[in-house]
Amino acid sequence: MSAGDRWRRFEVLSQRPVNSDGFAAENPELGLIAISSPYDPQPSLVLGADGRIVELDGKPEGAFDVIDAFIARHGIDTYIAPAAMARPDIEIARMLTDPSVSRSEIVVLARGMTPAKLARIVALLRPPELLIAIAKMRVRRTPSIQAHITNRADDPLLLAADAAAAVAFGFRELETTVPVLGDAPSNAVALLIGSQVGRPGALTQCSVEEATELDLGMRSLTTYAETVSLYGTEQVFTDGDDTPWSKAFLASAYASRGLKMRVTSGAGAEVLMGAAERKSMLYLESRCVSLARALGAQGVQNGGIDGASVAGSVPGGMRELLAENLLVMMHGLESCSGNDTLVSESDLRRAAHTVPLALTGSDFIFSGFGAVAAYDNMFGPSNFNADDVDDYLVMQRDWEIDGGLRPVTERAALEVRERAASAVQAVYRDLGLADYSDEQVAAAVAAHGSEDLSDADPAAVPGAATRILQRGIGGIEVAASLSRCGFGAEAERVLGMLRERVKGDYLQPAAIFDDQMRVLSKVTDPNDYSGPGTGYVISQQRRAEIAAIRQQRQVPELAAGKAQDNSRVRLDDIGPAVAGSDPAEVVIGVSPAFGRPLSVTLSGISCAAALAELVGGIEQAGGTARVVRVASTVDLGRIGLTAAQLSGSGVGIGLQAKGTAVVHRSDLAPLANLELLSTAPLITRSMYRELGRNAALRTRGLEPTAMRNPYTSQAITARYHARTVAMVAVERQCAEPGAKPVELRVGWADEEG
Ligand code: CA
Repeated sequence: MSAGDRWRRFEVLSQRPVNSDGFAAENPELGLIAISSPYDPQPSLVLGADGRIVELDGKPEGAFDVIDAFIARHGIDTYIAPAAMARPDIEIARMLTDPSVSRSEIVVLARGMTPAKLARIVALLRPPELLIAIAKMRVRRTPSIQAHITNRADDPLLLAADAAAAVAFGFRELETTVPVLGDAPSNAVALLIGSQVGRPGALTQCSVEEATELDLGMRSLTTYAETVSLYGTEQVFTDGDDTPWSKAFLASAYASRGLKMRVTSGAGAEVLMGAAERKSMLYLESRCVSLARALGAQGVQNGGIDGASVAGSVPGGMRELLAENLLVMMHGLESCSGNDTLVSESDLRRAAHTVPLALTGSDFIFSGFGAVAAYDNMFGPSNFNADDVDDYLVMQRDWEIDGGLRPVTERAALEVRERAASAVQAVYRDLGLADYSDEQVAAAVAAHGSEDLSDADPAAVPGAATRILQRGIGGIEVAASLSRCGFGAEAERVLGMLRERVKGDYLQPAAIFDDQMRVLSKVTDPNDYSGPGTGYVISQQRRAEIAAIRQQRQVPELAAGKAQDNSRVRLDDIGPAVAGSDPAEVVIGVSPAFGRPLSVTLSGISCAAALAELVGGIEQAGGTARVVRVASTVDLGRIGLTAAQLSGSGVGIGLQAKGTAVVHRSDLAPLANLELLSTAPLITRSMYRELGRNAALRTRGLEPTAMRNPYTSQAITARYHARTVAMVAVERQCAEPGAKPVELRVGWADEEG
């Protein structure tokens, strides 16, 4: 006999979401290799007689490309370099994970190291070591998180409402972009207004083509910038008509106007552009990060970003993305740590990508959590999106980690959404940008995403954007208009953001504002992790905030439940239960709290209905039913056995308030049984009837087919264990150890009229 050519299991596996992802065999020729390509250079650094770097990572000065040249001239501290380069890689790797070695000691050494040297050091770290190193090396002590706020219609009311909700949830940087470049000024204004509703200090950016982005920053319609892209090979740089010098100029332009700025890089970009020069993604990214420091940027957004899935397609890709983040931190720069692009169709895999960094924390755990409907994310869906917020909040609570977010009630979210959309409506009218109706405001406030907006005027946004530019509307004009329109608090906060640009404290590395407008940065909130009990510690207040998810319930509420039916039953004690003599009798023993005070089973049917079905089944099969309460124990087997011992037939049923039921016989051991329905949440009325019928048949010596628990792949314990614990606690409170069984008179609601 030969086997067929299919195992059904593989058919099932093939349908799993992870198999929609693309996986590539390692191919160094194309740069499809995460860490350590055979073509990566050996680290080297040679100083000439004048102290100038004349060889960098195996290349003599004459062969430097623009990236080598820029790093050699501006990115390496030649004073520390000879000593730093002489240290063995493994020694530095161990320093990274050693709590007794300070962050600053490593940052100083890294200043003297070449890109190849740094890449080889972080490549030595296994995942938990990377996490320890990140916990120590990240610049700011307090972790934070960035959101994407965009929508397909560029609707300013929805942008503002979503921005305000994101700030309520705890995001401290909000990034928008446009599907249509011309809309950018309107998006920037809407985001600026929405970001300052409820609390002050959230930073905003509008990620568009570099000249426009700079222009918006100069007009003070944004408060930071991020989309200054760096690449690890000269070819990709020059394809975009750029050089490290042009990027350095751009960085200086932002700094000159007091604007926070970071650069963007990340694995895979060079592979996608077909110009990876056979190097590993980690080595090329190490060049980008060295370049970032050389050109004076305060931080780097990396960890894949647009190329995350390219890294994810090869072995070690996810480890490489974390290693990239660590490189940024080793340079003493702010890390905006990826978790940006959706890396997989598989929920398991995208969570596996995000969880490690969420556990260890980062300056920005997400460089773009999609705080809008996934379809509205104009960067493409993020690895986590608005519909993942509850999952994220629960994860924070599970691990007691600060992922930067907090629970928000629906009411509180609606309040800030309403205020934000109304403020945009008022300012757009006041400045003559566009005229939005109250109905449009209401629709934006209630919307999950732009698909919920019906009557958007497609011409309104480009018109508003054009007028913003033509009339020279900047942050001051927006603040003045907010003030005229009665949004004094928001006006003050927009003005406050402008004031901070003059002060410049938030140009320090890794700066954010907390919601009292205090600057948290490398200077004011330096990461001082040096092992257990040090570094960032969640305050009691913050812990309470993280714990208080809206799904959390107190025991009485959990125990009560909500019945799908209206069945009622009265169970009156009528004295001690005695042994019966009727050979057709089935005694049903109910648990201490059954029907009083607990009245709804875990499957959502009333205790009355469950009991009625059992009685009905017994009678249908020619038996007689009697009901007793076994108050002495909460143990179902004991309850069932006690009932069986009182039964004239020797057959009894035990029934708990949560709905679990057992058929027992007087001659069996307590832990044995004839039939058991143990998955209470899945037991239906007809199953109780069937169980009753079977019990009655057993009184006549018949052996009916035993009931089986139904098929399920539900997370039964996750769904019901909180309620189970609450119900068992109530059963325990009602139990009276040593109490004798009591005969019950059963009064059905319909009998009582
Ligand atoms: Ca971002």
